[in-house]
Amino acid sequence: MAERPYIVGNWKMNGTRAMLAQARAIDRAAQNLMKVEVALAPPFTLVHATHREVEQIGVGAQDCHPADDGAHTGDISATMAADAGAKFVILGHSERRQNHGETDALVRAKAQAALAAGLRVIMCCGETEEVRDAGKAVEHVLAQLRASLPESLDRPGEMLTVAYEPVWAIGTGRTPTAEDIGAMHREIRALLVELFGEEDGAAVRILYGGSVKAENARELLAADEVGGALVGGASLTAESFMGIVIAA
Ligand code: PEP
Repeated sequence: MAERPYIVGNWKMNGTRAMLAQARAIDRAAQNLMKVEVALAPPFTLVHATHREVEQIGVGAQDCHPADDGAHTGDISATMAADAGAKFVILGHSERRQNHGETDALVRAKAQAALAAGLRVIMCCGETEEVRDAGKAVEHVLAQLRASLPESLDRPGEMLTVAYEPVWAIGTGRTPTAEDIGAMHREIRALLVELFGEEDGAAVRILYGGSVKAENARELLAADEVGGALVGGASLTAESFMGIVIAA
């Protein structure tokens, strides 16, 4: 990995204010590990409080609405997330695509709104087990990315991160081999270069996500073109999350 590895914790729908102690502990530990860029995406209810509690780590949101404001009960706009202290937003996560019926077009509209609000975007993509078994994983992931990424993007290396998360690896304890991850990341890199040009396409970080834990982090992060990890379950305690950060 050429740059500082980027390790992002996605707390999903976990955490009340009691979890801020974990955020503080992660932040303190990250101050001694400056070779790794560390970030957390708590649920919306904790974004502002986390932002106020931490000094070193990045804080982001897990979703945003494509509109800036209006009659959208229960939704949060990118501007509101930024106002609460978010610096980035995770978009296109398979749990939102599956559980909320988010289409590529909607994910793209959200990405455009996020960028307009000054948020960096972590764009998730990944194939189901059926798609992988059918030998169509690369085709599926590239098509998903092509249709979900914003059509134009200033400073892609700074504003965009891609997270490859095979759906069958999320929360299951199963992971692809480092070779399979490297093969997919090389395909994603080629697409980014095609879309954004040689220099900008090469500057976008590509994270791996799916059952990353301290025990497998070193091997998974050493795979070709892996610039860090998006971590779900193992980001919920400072101890397990920092185990991954240390391995990175
Ligand atoms: C995720 O959902 O982004 C994720 C990677 O989850 P887990 O680490 O729990 O597999």
